[in-house]
Amino acid sequence: MTAVAEASPARPLMPVEQALEQLLALAEAAPIRDTERLPLAEAEGRVLASDLVAALDLPSWPNSAMDGYALRLADWQGEPLAVSQRIFAGHAPQPLQPGTCARIFTGAPLPEGADCVEMQENTAAAEDRVRFLAPLKTGQNIRPQGQEARKGEQVMSAGTRLGPIELGLAASLGHERLEVVRKVRVAVLSTGDELVEPGLPLGPGQIYNSNRRLLVSWLQRLGCAVLDAGILPDDLARTRACLARLGDVDLILSTGGVSVGEADYLGAALREAGELALWKLAIKPGKPLTFGHFQGVPVIGLPGNPASTLVTFGLLARPYLLRRQGVAEVTPLRFDVPAGFDWPRPGTRREYLRARIEQGQVRIYKNQSSGVLRSAAWADGLVEVREGSTPKQGDSVPFIPFSELLG
Ligand code: AMP
Ligand code: MG
Repeated sequence: MTAVAEASPARPLMPVEQALEQLLALAEAAPIRDTERLPLAEAEGRVLASDLVAALDLPSWPNSAMDGYALRLADWQGEPLAVSQRIFAGHAPQPLQPGTCARIFTGAPLPEGADCVEMQENTAAAEDRVRFLAPLKTGQNIRPQGQEARKGEQVMSAGTRLGPIELGLAASLGHERLEVVRKVRVAVLSTGDELVEPGLPLGPGQIYNSNRRLLVSWLQRLGCAVLDAGILPDDLARTRACLARLGDVDLILSTGGVSVGEADYLGAALREAGELALWKLAIKPGKPLTFGHFQGVPVIGLPGNPASTLVTFGLLARPYLLRRQGVAEVTPLRFDVPAGFDWPRPGTRREYLRARIEQGQVRIYKNQSSGVLRSAAWADGLVEVREGSTPKQGDSVPFIPFSELLG
């Protein structure tokens, strides 16, 4: 492996940006190229594989933005105009008879000859004649043809993630199916002799496996095909065998077994396979991170503490997975919020505090231990505290909402 530098104890911690940059470069070097054409109903969460071009003008004809009356402005001389037709949405109008107006409803096509729509609230109608009570302007309350998109115009670019809004836009242009990148196949492994699945009794020293559920659910939300490989005991032969069995996936994502000083079986198995980088990141929670390949398949090893898994997956592995599908914008939105806390101890790592916005201030959970997933369940997002900084009550601090990371 050449692109990735291995950290040694003497080296300084790797800044989060640098780790992200390296992971994104690795993702770009291994793009998922296969595509499939999916009906809109199945495309949510997927990534558009080719630019989407408008196949028609949107709207395809000028139409009314209001319930009211359509007229030719020059016909209004102060005398009431006769109503010569009623035009409902979904019905074709007749050309406007000169010297008359047309009753028209929102979304109905403008009749030929009309150049103005007045909303009904500004009119007085009696015996099928209408008086206009306010000054009129050419083009008012008319949605011109092609206002939203012109035929042939690019409306979405390849690499766009398809959510409800994008799917709605595609539908408005008449697309029934979209060309999307095939699902990324991710194998999820939870390492640790202490792990037990919920539903089974706990033996001495055992804990329930939370990372598996956290990651499998999260990956599914991200549109990945998940191969849930279950729990892997701390044992080199079994680690090797398990990795070899995983087969045709795009990424192996494991948690645990990457702490310093620990018997690191995942690392050992990757080292045998020839490609391993161990990073010590300037991030808290979540200092250790592994990247490597096993028989050509990329492997990301996240730290095992659940809050560390959450932060490192959200800030590093999630962007990596999106970039492999060609998503250009992988950085979560963050915005500044006044701190509702004091953080007096400057850190050497960038801290991601589980936090919640209340009454215009961001508060942090009382226990920021990396083992406490409850901190994240209480929180709405993460406050970023940069290396060496000591924000005080009222200072602006960057906040990343979980909604930005989870979808
Ligand atoms: P490790 O990175 O394996 O040293 O694990 C660090 C801490 O995270 C230990 O307390 C582990 O018990 C815990 N841990 C590791 N994997 C999981 C998991 N899948 N679910 C819950 N806790 C875990
Ligand atoms: Mg472990």
